[in-house]
Amino acid sequence: MKYISTRGQMKPVEFQEAVMTGLAPDGGLLLPASLPDVGDRLAAWAKLSFQDLAYEVISLFATDIPSDDLKKLINNSYATFEHPEVAPTVEIGDFHILELFHGPTLAFKDVALQLLGNLFEYILEQRGGTLNILGATSGDTGSAAIHGVRGKPKINIFIMHPAGRTSPLQEKQMTSVLDRNVFNLAVDGTFDDCQHIMKTTFADVDFKTEYALGAVNSVNWARVLAQTVYYFYSAFQVMEKTGTNTVQFSVPTGNFGDILAGYLAQRMGLPISKLILATNENDILSRFFNTGIYGMADVVPTISPSMDIQVASNFERYLYYRAGQEPEKVVALLDGFKKSGTLAVDVNENGVVDDLFVAGRGDTASTLATIKRYKEQFGYVLDPHTAVGVLVAEAHRSADVPTICLATAHPAKFTQAIIDATGEAVHHPTLDALADAETRCDSIANHVDAVKQYLVEHI
Ligand SMILES: *Cc1c(COP(=O)(O)O)cnc(C)c1O
Repeated sequence: MKYISTRGQMKPVEFQEAVMTGLAPDGGLLLPASLPDVGDRLAAWAKLSFQDLAYEVISLFATDIPSDDLKKLINNSYATFEHPEVAPTVEIGDFHILELFHGPTLAFKDVALQLLGNLFEYILEQRGGTLNILGATSGDTGSAAIHGVRGKPKINIFIMHPAGRTSPLQEKQMTSVLDRNVFNLAVDGTFDDCQHIMKTTFADVDFKTEYALGAVNSVNWARVLAQTVYYFYSAFQVMEKTGTNTVQFSVPTGNFGDILAGYLAQRMGLPISKLILATNENDILSRFFNTGIYGMADVVPTISPSMDIQVASNFERYLYYRAGQEPEKVVALLDGFKKSGTLAVDVNENGVVDDLFVAGRGDTASTLATIKRYKEQFGYVLDPHTAVGVLVAEAHRSADVPTICLATAHPAKFTQAIIDATGEAVHHPTLDALADAETRCDSIANHVDAVKQYLVEHI
């Protein structure tokens, strides 16, 4: 399988190269040159364990990794999950909840980042060399990335967070990882400052090359690929249980990475009748699917912080398909967006952008009310991100098609919102254990030179 750029200016590369490349040199995102049609394999796949299914899906794309190696990589990646099924689906009221939070940091990002860490290690073993990951986080991604590469000898990871501005729990999830290859940097500034330092450091190409810097980018193809697996896995279970031959998914959305994986699964032949895109008050994507206009607005902080985005980094991959897989059209749309801050596509005869998608948003009050209602009615506590997905799904339920709602985080990660909604906290032993955990973190000035100096001293 070869990979191309959404902007059309990259020589096609193999899977391993695609994983190491992250962002294409022309600024585009990587996609497979063609998507396999798996329609005639679905019946056989329906009986597989999560790991075996992951192997079947991923092996179609990772064609330059021998099958025994790939099997081992996948099995190791999901051995860190505390649930034997990795991503179980439970029935709650009218909905089927796909629990993606059984990994080491209790958020769905583990599904992809556990695999990505192992892929990086494997590829470095094949090619030689080392990798020094530099990242900036406001919370969730940093800890999932750290847990994906901790203890790996050929990899160091440096994660900057704004000192005193991430939640104490999220900070602890990062700084309590004491492996020698993990470096937490508390930057005396904001998250934007951290991101600025990261971008400036990466822009110094000589420095980047000399110190083998890399990113655990949210746009890395391997992350999207790993996420397609659970759409298949859950759909098979729910279709079997309900005797239907199609399902719909509701996805709490920020950067469009998670729902994009569902979109690709559908394009590969999984019978998904609708993708329900759910956003919080930061609703650029739900406005787009309802109006055809993608227009920037300011980010407002919410109780579902991992969905507080302004521009969705994975959206360009959807645009590529939407534009008939013609890179020139993608580039034209993006150029227009850069100049004017808006991008518009035509709506169809049904008045929507895409018949596969419906979209809606939930605000803080309705999200808290949903958490409360599910606890009272079903004794099940939704985290605030999942609750947004559930409440938007309620407007799009169907009598004939079962709805699967993706649960993207464990509620214990968002203590305050859960207390506000229900009056009491939810606990998880992994998080409770952090209370007395030893931590390691270095404070650093809000300046790119200070961070570069730190990298030089510690690499
Ligand atoms: C990252 C994240 C999301 C949003 O996923 P995208 O791929 O960015 O759309 C939703 N919920 C949680 C808990 C997350 O960590």
